Amino acid sequence: KLFNEVQEAKGNIRVFCRCRPLNKVEMSAGCTTVVDFDAAKDGCLGILATGSSKKSFRFDRVYTPKDDQVDVFADASSMVISVLDGYNVCIFAYGQTGTGKTFTMEGTEQNRGVNYRTLEHLFRVSKERSETFSYDISVSVLEVYNEQIRDLLATGPASKRLEIKQNYEGHHHVPGVVEAKVDNISDVWTVLQAGSNARAVGSNNVNEHSSRSHCMLCIMVKTKNLMNGECTKSKLWLVDLAGSERLAKTDVQGERLKEAQNINRSLSALGDVISALAAKSSHIPYRNSKLTHLLQDSLGGDSKTLMFVQISPSDQDVGETLSSLNFATRVR
Ligand code: ADP
Ligand code: MG
Repeated sequence: KLFNEVQEAKGNIRVFCRCRPLNKVEMSAGCTTVVDFDAAKDGCLGILATGSSKKSFRFDRVYTPKDDQVDVFADASSMVISVLDGYNVCIFAYGQTGTGKTFTMEGTEQNRGVNYRTLEHLFRVSKERSETFSYDISVSVLEVYNEQIRDLLATGPASKRLEIKQNYEGHHHVPGVVEAKVDNISDVWTVLQAGSNARAVGSNNVNEHSSRSHCMLCIMVKTKNLMNGECTKSKLWLVDLAGSERLAKTDVQGERLKEAQNINRSLSALGDVISALAAKSSHIPYRNSKLTHLLQDSLGGDSKTLMFVQISPSDQDVGETLSSLNFATRVR
């Protein structure tokens, strides 16, 4: 109920902030926590910056390190269900590398994340509605790296350059991309794992590569109203963004410089699109990056957007934490 009130008051963009626990390495290095969760249940978060100054931020939700995957999904679930009602939806995780973007979206086998839980929930609800509606659900998994789109479900030799096209209905899509039909939840984990594993192919360092690319799961839903025969199509994007951290100037040369510029450009483009939408601006600059161009149908209009801003609790990361929280505040 609170969720709907929030939605009416602020339009279709919501921001949830999630802080991961201090990890073992940080604990043994004597790192301290700079995040104050006293008012977390009211959506408020304090950051104890240098000295005694404290900066406060307010979000639609704040998750402390004690909140688990079930708590997080409980708040996101009503939004994902909108895709069965014909809305386009976009959920993404933003933040510095190592703050839990992949944990939130993908999760682990034991602690499954938003992606899996979303599909599980969609299957459950579509079954409940099966007397009135029939649903056809398929998924694509894409990666955007250096402004190039790669199909993570494609098998065989890499296909030719993938491009974004607009069809006669005005929908954006990528011709040639695999759309895997999923009929039940047991298909899902296998497909998601295949996509996730393909992210590593061709890179020397899996974690480094995935922190510099955007991983995008698209759930496409075709709905048929069995009463009147009416058909609709809608889609839900679930995006694990590239790490938002700035690289040290000394690190940035050659290939790394190009990567850094592309990440920077696409994350800024995302910020620009969302703040233009929030400001009800007449021009929304979707075309400035592959990321925003791909998400175009699911950002703006009557579509619904949820951003997870992921942060570290450690004093060593306070600079990046403040920069992520400022980004998230700007899009609200
Ligand atoms: P990112 O994708 O942002 O780089 P990861 O999702 O890989 O970060 O998280 C980094 C590490 O922290 C992983 O080992 C992950 O399991 C752990 N982690 C992240 N968030 C949480 C959390 N809320 N609870 C427990 N462990 C977490
Ligand atoms: Mg990751």
